[in-house]
Amino acid sequence: MPDPERLAAYRAKRDPARTPEPVPATDPDTPEVEGRTFVVQEHHARALHWDVRLERDGVLVSWAVPKGLPPDPKVNHLAVHTEDHPLEYATFEGEIGAGEYGGGQVTVWDHGTYEELKWTDREVQVVLHGERVQGRYVLFATRSKGAADDGRSWMVHRMDPPTDPAWTPLPTDLRPMLAQRGDLPPDDGTWAFEMAWGGVRALALVDGGRVRMWSGGDDVTGSYPEITGLGEQLGSTVVALDGELVALDATGAPDPERLSEREGVTGGSARRLARTHPVTYLVHDVLHLEGRSTVGRPYDERRALLDGLELSGRSWRVPPTFDGPGAAVLAAAADNGLDGIVAKRRAAPYRPGARSADWRHVPS
Ligand code: MN
Repeated sequence: MPDPERLAAYRAKRDPARTPEPVPATDPDTPEVEGRTFVVQEHHARALHWDVRLERDGVLVSWAVPKGLPPDPKVNHLAVHTEDHPLEYATFEGEIGAGEYGGGQVTVWDHGTYEELKWTDREVQVVLHGERVQGRYVLFATRSKGAADDGRSWMVHRMDPPTDPAWTPLPTDLRPMLAQRGDLPPDDGTWAFEMAWGGVRALALVDGGRVRMWSGGDDVTGSYPEITGLGEQLGSTVVALDGELVALDATGAPDPERLSEREGVTGGSARRLARTHPVTYLVHDVLHLEGRSTVGRPYDERRALLDGLELSGRSWRVPPTFDGPGAAVLAAAADNGLDGIVAKRRAAPYRPGARSADWRHVPS
């Protein structure tokens, strides 16, 4: 039997006059036929998360999962058991106003039906049949250390192998490919040309909407808080990116001195400098995407994958690549105060950690 007050907590957090979310005045009757729908909503609230909801006893039993459903059984994700939602919520998409409970954009990330394998107060095992997610998952309560157990701390674990049998997690030992110094290559159509920005080389590993930035073997995430929005933009896309951090002056030219003030600074000082001396992450390559390494694929294919991500934000973007002529691109770089260009062989793979003749730095 459903609790007669099942939606009381839901209603208490929402004013129907101030939110576009459905707020039914009364609780649902016990359903004659138990439904078995599930929905996962991507919720760009103050912190990005995914809300996993399972229909049961006429309501949507709900968890907020900060990194989303894990695709791989080797990785468990935290889940926070939240208040039951009304069934009407399963199709809700929209913008909850800033300042309201859960303010931010909500979209349906996946939906479908589920089979129940086990359901207790502390463990829920289901088989999800969605469009993006299929397979067995278990949600289970954990006891938070040192705190009273309020029943909200859970984990979610995938019980089946990854849907994609070739799925591999993001590599943790990636090293950037380096360019050799050289002369302009011939304009024979086999080279692409990019500006050399002279910034700090950095790899970004993005998983579950969270970014980790690596530079020179160090985790520098804490030094560049303005890049966290890149993870929010990528949502559930799991990807490793290569690029460089630059601080641009008022004319749009890189300012190495401003950039050097950011290095090694973390915490509140980094947040202050992010406002006064902001950096931009210029992304020029994709090394791993949705469980697959892409380093073996030619430049042109990697570049198409990168363009497909449509990365564009206040603090990150994908600078253009040029077909040539090389001399014209080099002249444009000099005109803009840049340190020359990097010519990249279109057919060449990415060679992690190698200084390769397939990338040629041509100074201005
Ligand atoms: Mn939410």
